[in-house]
Amino acid sequence: MAPERFFLELDPPAAVKASWPHVVIVGGGFAGLKACHALAGQPVRVTLIDKRNFNLFQPLLYQVASGLVSEGDVASPLRQMVGQAPNIQILLGEVVDIDPKAQEVVFNDHRYGYDHLILASGSGSSYFGHEEWRELAPPMKILEHADEIRRRILMALEEAEQSQDPIRRRFLQTAVVVGAGPAGCELAGSLIELMHRAVSRDFKQLQADACHVILVDAVERVLPTMDPKLSATAAKYLSASGVKLQLGSMVEAIEPGRVRLKPSARPDGPRSLEAATICWTAGVRASRLGRLLAERTGCGVDRGGRVEVGPDFSIAGYPSIRVVGDLCAYRHTADGQALPGMAGPAVQMGGWVARDILAISEGQRMAPFRWTDFGTMAVIGPFYAVADLRGLHVSGLLGWILWGLAHLAFIPDTENRISLLTKWLWQIATRQRTALLITGRPDQHIGVDVGLERAPACPQPLEPLVVAEQVDQPAGLAA
Ligand SMILES: Cc1cc2nc3c(=O)[nH]c(=O)nc-3n(C[C@H](O)[C@H](O)[C@H](O)COP(=O)(O)OP(=O)(O)OC[C@H]3O[C@@H](n4cnc5c(N)ncnc54)[C@H](O)[C@@H]3O)c2cc1C
Repeated sequence: MAPERFFLELDPPAAVKASWPHVVIVGGGFAGLKACHALAGQPVRVTLIDKRNFNLFQPLLYQVASGLVSEGDVASPLRQMVGQAPNIQILLGEVVDIDPKAQEVVFNDHRYGYDHLILASGSGSSYFGHEEWRELAPPMKILEHADEIRRRILMALEEAEQSQDPIRRRFLQTAVVVGAGPAGCELAGSLIELMHRAVSRDFKQLQADACHVILVDAVERVLPTMDPKLSATAAKYLSASGVKLQLGSMVEAIEPGRVRLKPSARPDGPRSLEAATICWTAGVRASRLGRLLAERTGCGVDRGGRVEVGPDFSIAGYPSIRVVGDLCAYRHTADGQALPGMAGPAVQMGGWVARDILAISEGQRMAPFRWTDFGTMAVIGPFYAVADLRGLHVSGLLGWILWGLAHLAFIPDTENRISLLTKWLWQIATRQRTALLITGRPDQHIGVDVGLERAPACPQPLEPLVVAEQVDQPAGLAA
């Protein structure tokens, strides 16, 4: 007998399952994946919709950008992670609209019904109204960004190796990172280590001390969300590693190969920085589904586009819609401040909302959400991290060990955990980076349509197809 097909709304399920509430989760990041795990094997039908077919562990993107690990080490296919649960269906597609009155989401030209909607579509990067800077200074939010940063830095070093012109060589060996938060500090620390080590070992014409990484921020200290003492420790370490700190300097404009700084902010400082590689980690904006939801429901959003949610993460007037992770502004905290856009809160929110939905289906509710703050950490050099663990400050090698353990515990895929641990141990033993490939150059794929995203249209069959069973027009799927 053929195995039971259980395509939820696409193929109406068996009678008992049809009575289960249908939970649609948009976004398989930290929050969405945790919600899926909590709902796996429970009496609910779950559809996870994501525009990518994988879950990405963003905290390690800087390691991909600097060639420490490769893409597959920090991302895992959603189908392998949760798609095997009998009550979870995964659909690839970008949700482009929401109809809260009809309780439907729109994606891939379909309308798709839900009983409970969990919006967990995360956040992207913001250039504060200067979208034209994006191409010149890539952000670090998705895998392709990290690949692009690595490609730019390695291409610049390759060209520098062949350049006779000392001024051009200096330009090629300089990188600017805008934004001195954890992501910017991690990237700057890792790039200077990459440049110094690669140049001194693998390039014959270049000198390590001619490589420069400049970290720019409008704020006067690095890691501004951490304790000032840890900021000072991190700044000292970064400077000693060769990262030049350009703090208290606001970016006025980004042009090809140049970052212009506002003169008013620091009259004695440089007016512009020239660098072949410029990266942007400065601004965050919530996924556009936040503003779309506000248009459709009248719910509030803050300046960053985050949805103002109630204590149970629902929005006013629509108890069936929950918003979690980076997309929500959750202010039901002791100090009224919104929870930070970090992996820890996202995971806890996703898990709580999933359990609350299960409780509702049994006529109950969960105890109010309480966030557990485990602190923040940033790796700023090889075997050197700073950690603010709820008032306990740790830095140096101990910080790095804690950081490594926390990330290995947090990464949701066992295969990646093993592969990361192996690569980190290999680097400790050899100081060799394992992923220094220059990829993503379409000019080297002559004749290959690298932009091909969709499968071609289905051709006419040469012979009549034998159809196993007639499937009626799907219940929740109107064209
Ligand atoms: C470089 C970097 C470093 C970081 N470092 C740390 C760190 O060290 N510690 C820490 O705690 N946090 C860190 N963070 C923050 C952390 O990664 C985020 O807070 C976390 O990813 C938020 O989880 P989320 O589930 O809300 O969104 P995400 O994890 O971003 O997931 C959103 C998902 O939604 C999907 N999606 C988006 N729009 C749509 C749509 N319209 N339709 C369908 N699918 C959609 C996306 O493809 C994605 O899979 C870092 C972030 C970055 C970018």
